[in-house]
Amino acid sequence: MRRWITWSAAGAAVLLVGVVLYRTLQFSGAEPPPAALPSVALDSVAILNRFAESLRYRTISHQDTTRVEAEEFQRFHAFLQSAFPRVHQQLELQRVGYSLLYRWRGRDSTKPAALLMGHMDVVPVEPGTESQWRYPPFSGTIADGYVWGRGAIDDKISVMSVLEAVEALLAQGFQPPYDLYLAFGHDEEVGGQRGAAQIARLLQQRGVRLRWVLDEGGAVTTGMFPGVERPLAMVGIAEKGYMMVELSVEGSGGHSSVPPRETPLGILARAIVTVERSPMPARLTSVAQHMLEAIAPEMSFWQRLVVANRWLFANLLLRQLQQTPRGNALLRTTFAPTIFQAGIKENVIPARVHALVNVRLLPGDTPEQVLEYLRQILPDRRIQIRQHSLLSLPSPVTDPSSPAFQAVARSIRAVFPEARVVPYLVLGATDSRHYTGLTSTILRFTPVRLTPEEYATFHGTNERIPVREVLRAVRFFVTLLQQLD
Ligand SMILES: [Zn+2]
Repeated sequence: MRRWITWSAAGAAVLLVGVVLYRTLQFSGAEPPPAALPSVALDSVAILNRFAESLRYRTISHQDTTRVEAEEFQRFHAFLQSAFPRVHQQLELQRVGYSLLYRWRGRDSTKPAALLMGHMDVVPVEPGTESQWRYPPFSGTIADGYVWGRGAIDDKISVMSVLEAVEALLAQGFQPPYDLYLAFGHDEEVGGQRGAAQIARLLQQRGVRLRWVLDEGGAVTTGMFPGVERPLAMVGIAEKGYMMVELSVEGSGGHSSVPPRETPLGILARAIVTVERSPMPARLTSVAQHMLEAIAPEMSFWQRLVVANRWLFANLLLRQLQQTPRGNALLRTTFAPTIFQAGIKENVIPARVHALVNVRLLPGDTPEQVLEYLRQILPDRRIQIRQHSLLSLPSPVTDPSSPAFQAVARSIRAVFPEARVVPYLVLGATDSRHYTGLTSTILRFTPVRLTPEEYATFHGTNERIPVREVLRAVRFFVTLLQQLD
């Protein structure tokens, strides 16, 4: 009997190892075939000069949304008009505030249309950092193999390379099979309420149906996943939600010479520590699973084994991924206390104190669940918890086997043959969220390859794009549009 048990245990172990190995070897690493490269002649020097020029307009979005750089946007629009004459002769243009909506009529306008997006506004240069720029932030300088300037990565590269591609295709007499819209916002950096949100409303009113939307998002880069050397082209198939939660405590203030055992400030400070130490549970969403499966062929054997056998190693996998802040953000709704306000005088105990926590919601989580969770970990009734504002809910998840994703993947394979295409979760918020009511297929990708160091300059100092990547971005859009069916 004992021998029989030993033998069956050994048999089960062999079977288990067999299944684990089999599943690991299932990751063949097959990639979609590359699309045909563009047959269009592109004038590299002219493209680079136009891109550099686009960075010279101070189309800045300010936190105070009533302040709009109207004149800069108007000058920028005039520049676009002279830089892309065919686009402005042959496409219909509508201004929505300072945002632009172009319609390129296809061979069959009754079919669902597609939409390419970007935004023309940029974030300000942080006062005091101007002198740290190698070239002035609005000089649009071409030097040292780069085009330098605020907005180079975020997001004038999208706007300019889309327009370059359309202009080049128009010169060839190309017409898309269905309508193609180009939508360029002017207030993405402050929420897109006057730009993208209005354009989406307009399209909805007109009954426009969209088969897909492509907006800014991930780029081609290295160092995103520990141990993976190959560049990864990160195509966003979802983005996290964004809400602010207010925690406040109201108590009795008083003179600081006779302090009570507990003060509102102390109670709130403890609450903040609790919030930091009690993150919401981590889980592998469908987005994270798509991402891991796409990267797996590039991982070491042991990493691949863990990913392939999530049914067995889920906890190990979650523990490993959580080690980096980026990995952690991929797996859970995160809390970041960003504002803490209390006290006005050094010898007065403040009676009312409050803090704001920035919450980034994972697809599938709701604001109600977040509030419920916070009430659980902060049972002290003296702490008031309320939703302060909700910028956006987490987006729906786009299917990576959809034709649009596949077309983007094939175009990436053609223009960035060194990279592996990976579906991923955008951690920030983009203007594309305003279009969720118009299509189930939203993709977020910025077609340039950047080193982690170059990537880090967006919203920062010395924002710049390698010259060859400006040209690759144009080739990407030409490739993508040429293979529409
Ligand atoms: Zn952006």
